[in-house]
Amino acid sequence: MKSTPITLSEFYHRFPKADLHYHLLGGVRLATMLSLAEKYQVELTEHDAKAYYRAHQQETGIVKGGIEALTFLYQLMQEPCDYARVLREVAEDAHACGVKYIETFWNPSDTELSYLAVTTALTDAIDEAYQQMGIIIRLIPSINREKSPEEAVAMVNEMIAHPHPYVLGVGIDYKEHNAPVENFWKAYRIAKKQGYKLTAHCSEFGLHWRNVETGIELIEVDRIDHGYSIIDNPLLTKEYAEKGIPFTVIPSNTFFFKQWPEHQQWCEHHPIRAMAKAGMNIIPCTDDWHIHNTTSANCYRVMVEDFGFDLGSLKQMIINSIEACWMPTEVKMQWLAEWVDEFDTLRTNLVAEPVIAPEMKICYRR
Ligand SMILES: [Zn+2]
Repeated sequence: MKSTPITLSEFYHRFPKADLHYHLLGGVRLATMLSLAEKYQVELTEHDAKAYYRAHQQETGIVKGGIEALTFLYQLMQEPCDYARVLREVAEDAHACGVKYIETFWNPSDTELSYLAVTTALTDAIDEAYQQMGIIIRLIPSINREKSPEEAVAMVNEMIAHPHPYVLGVGIDYKEHNAPVENFWKAYRIAKKQGYKLTAHCSEFGLHWRNVETGIELIEVDRIDHGYSIIDNPLLTKEYAEKGIPFTVIPSNTFFFKQWPEHQQWCEHHPIRAMAKAGMNIIPCTDDWHIHNTTSANCYRVMVEDFGFDLGSLKQMIINSIEACWMPTEVKMQWLAEWVDEFDTLRTNLVAEPVIAPEMKICYRR
């Protein structure tokens, strides 16, 4: 059977992908933000709304961070149906990009709506998205670390009071500077005892590698989100590489754009490259899809065109993402066989393999 040649751009869009680090409200489209503001009569000009979106920040001259965007959006989402709408749109955008599976964070303590009401709206929308598009989405309620550890415990107790098979684990996010993960040990311990999986944003924003160590050794998380500063400790880097602890990594992370505003420097020095060279278990993810002006296809494109990974490296990262996800083993085994096969077939149809500068090229295998 003759197959149609495909471009690299089509390739990035079509091979099967899992996104394990996706903040639900980071996936709110600009038009949806404006429509929610109109629905609840919140004063918001298009100019002001665009200030939350990286794609438009040059045009507005105002730069608001991802955390500010999420905080604002939680205030705009005043009914459970708003969550269902956003989840549906997230599924549509991801599906158009070849994403088959998402584990998405949302912050129950940031809304006045009840945990049960939002979870019901989201899980119904997940069923609908699966029926219509075949995309699978699962939920990770996430601790807002800018709030108290007691609120985190209350969140986990709500999860336990209203269990749902689509709610797989607990995460933590928001500003880490004065809120290291150990402050939230109690919420994590309760969740772990109930069989929930654990993940945590640690050592984001250039913060000390100790936060990753605490997450892994003390809290006993199954995964780390970000964790880039680990490369400042070569011994721990080696140990965690050998243990294969999964790290979700985000090419569109704001901190390193600010640290190296010059593009080539950013490409060369981004810790994602050093983590890969050390043999760590890394999984590229989008974090805040629309807010950061990225997509899952773009995320993998950056890995090749900016960071110098070859296509065999991408295949390894897809395998990593399946192995690190929290679906049942039999599902993961099936995905491993099917997705790798699909990746290989699409690759043979490529018009041309990417050209990577020899001094940048990384062949990442584990
Ligand atoms: Zn994140």
